[in-house]
Amino acid sequence: MDHQILPQNGRPEADVLEDLQSFAARDPHYKEGRLWSLVYHLDDAHDRFLSSAYAQYASANGLNPAAFQSLKRMETEVISILAGLLNGGPDTCGVMTAGGTESCLMAVKTYRDMARKRRKVRRPNMILPETAHVAWFKASEYFGVKVRLLPIGTDHTPDLSKLPKLINSNTVMVLGSAPEYPFGQIDPIEKMAATAQDHKVPLHVDACVGGFILPFMEMNGVDFPPWDFRVPGVTSISADLHKYGYAAKGASTILYRDLETLKHQMFVYEEWPGGIFASPALLGTRPGGAYAAAWATLQKIGTDGYRALARQTCEAVEQMKAGMEDIDGLAVIGAPTGPLIAYRSIDKKLDIFAVAAQMEQSGWSMNRTQKPDGIHAMVTAQHLAVVEQYLADLKDAVETVRRHPEIARTGSAATYGMMSHVPMRGMVRKRVLNIFAEMYRAGGAEFDLNTAGKPTMLERVMAKYVAWKARRSR
Ligand SMILES: *Cc1c(COP(=O)(O)O)cnc(C)c1O
Repeated sequence: MDHQILPQNGRPEADVLEDLQSFAARDPHYKEGRLWSLVYHLDDAHDRFLSSAYAQYASANGLNPAAFQSLKRMETEVISILAGLLNGGPDTCGVMTAGGTESCLMAVKTYRDMARKRRKVRRPNMILPETAHVAWFKASEYFGVKVRLLPIGTDHTPDLSKLPKLINSNTVMVLGSAPEYPFGQIDPIEKMAATAQDHKVPLHVDACVGGFILPFMEMNGVDFPPWDFRVPGVTSISADLHKYGYAAKGASTILYRDLETLKHQMFVYEEWPGGIFASPALLGTRPGGAYAAAWATLQKIGTDGYRALARQTCEAVEQMKAGMEDIDGLAVIGAPTGPLIAYRSIDKKLDIFAVAAQMEQSGWSMNRTQKPDGIHAMVTAQHLAVVEQYLADLKDAVETVRRHPEIARTGSAATYGMMSHVPMRGMVRKRVLNIFAEMYRAGGAEFDLNTAGKPTMLERVMAKYVAWKARRSR
């Protein structure tokens, strides 16, 4: 095995920075609004501002809040601003984390430990709607808290009639989302929280994606039911800064209604030879640059700025929804409120993954959903400038797929189609794990769903399945 060699003598800064620039050549074109996930980009000027704020604290460490009081101050102010935006009370408190997943993981750990301590719960479970973000399933695996799945109905919202029966004496929390990621709908938080309260179980609202846009939409006069700390049974909320807060990557928050609950999130070990140790969340070293960039962004954009961004985002979403109605065979899934939408084909002869593949031919980066098969779009203010082109290309893509239905049986459309439909989910899981792990081998391979070479057993099974499906649809 040939490992990369660390340069013997360090290289000139300019060379290295040039390399960095060239590495990005094949990345998604997010600055041109071609990407509908992962990145929340305003413009180059804002990126420069983020870099400059980040750079000032790039080496600073939030691990010890007594040492870096600058970072603690920023954290306190960010949490306080959030507590106001989310209508918290005088006891609302919270912690900055390095991302939404850390925030979600922390909620699960907190409520598991709280139930263990207060109610001696030894085999914890939590109630997750099927549409809960995948981070919650990760938390389940990491912290040994079993998932009790709240099914979604035909309208793609949680079936609340099933909620009371799912809660038992081992239930440590109920989850609602504002909005959920797959379809962008706000869960019925008031009803869920009332049921949770009846059973004396905490309810966490995952507003990782909504926390920095829903409050401003509301200020702009958009009408939707309350989902934040105004709802009595809501005990905690997670909200990301690095999504609609337009901060640099690595910044999220988790807020609790009261300090007694937050205490269960914290870790203290007093016997360590390295010293008495206390930590508020998952990480040890905490990235000062990300916290500084987040604080700076809130100050720079301000309420009016976020309201304007929310307005532009909603306008782009409305155009998307209207455009979808004009394209025969496509329909928005459910009734999204906010910046996320998913759409699918309502025509058996129109394969949505083939439409996605066509859109990629036109230079768009596409995201696919399953259950049902669909295309996902996370819309930002930046997309207002490209939404018209997107819809025009989408219309063309649909027409092309109608003329060439065989596109569905080739390339990425076929791969995604089988991945979401092959009934042997365990095999899909194994295959994905193997492809994924390969990327992390020393000198790792690049990710490619259309890997050449010997077909695996799963691929042979899938190929048979695809052929069968193709015969059936003819
Ligand atoms: C993005 C997201 C998360 C996870 O956040 P990361 O910052 O990607 O770790 C959790 N929940 C919801 C609803 C999200 O949209």
